[in-house]
Amino acid sequence: MEIRCSAQSDVGRGRTLNEDTFAVDGERGIFVVADGMGGHGNGEVASRIVADVVHRNLAPAGGRGRGAAGEGGQVLRRALEEANRRVIETARGDSALAGMGATAVVVKMGSGGSYLANVGDSRAYLLRAGRFAQLTKDHTWVREQVSAGLLSETQAMRHPFRSVVTRALGGDEEVTVDVMPLDPQPGDLYLLCSDGLTAVLGDDEIRGHLERRGSLSAICRRLIDAANDRGGPDNITVVVISIEEAA
Ligand code: CA
Repeated sequence: MEIRCSAQSDVGRGRTLNEDTFAVDGERGIFVVADGMGGHGNGEVASRIVADVVHRNLAPAGGRGRGAAGEGGQVLRRALEEANRRVIETARGDSALAGMGATAVVVKMGSGGSYLANVGDSRAYLLRAGRFAQLTKDHTWVREQVSAGLLSETQAMRHPFRSVVTRALGGDEEVTVDVMPLDPQPGDLYLLCSDGLTAVLGDDEIRGHLERRGSLSAICRRLIDAANDRGGPDNITVVVISIEEAA
């Protein structure tokens, strides 16, 4: 199995700062999208801490190692918990950074197992054999309302509170991380993205851009262009991961 990937981040049309950060390490199978919040550039500080801490925790120093085998998703969970602590500590040490936070979606693939983790509303999707699905569950107020039957999907997408997250890194000392196993297969296309993409493009549109294939960087570009064509109100970050037969 061979992993190929491409990633792009764009400030969008409605913002002057890009507070998203991604980390991509194809060799070690580590992929992170973090979406910072806090304003005045503080979100960028938070998302950078998250991407760096998670990457460092998942990539053992000096090794080509792919994480301790058998520990499963705990490695991913601990990496995000550590990122949460680091964002909180950094904000405590500098009053100008108070209130910063980030959402994150992380994929780790390799011989130690393949896992997906998320906190907040950054998402992961999978296109496999013609089937397209969102793998993550958004930790948002509108998602809770939809689950409770109080809002429809359409109402949720247009709701003024649609970007209110119920979980983020840098908020509470205790953060609940959703972790799920992945079973990557040749032909799979995974997409990690910040909400700047999904706030303006529906799942069918995102699927259409993935299905047109082409190079992975062309797919990333198409997704970002499509979000900007819709006004690009927020920063847009996409990571596309392709699983291929070993050459
Ligand atoms: Ca965002």
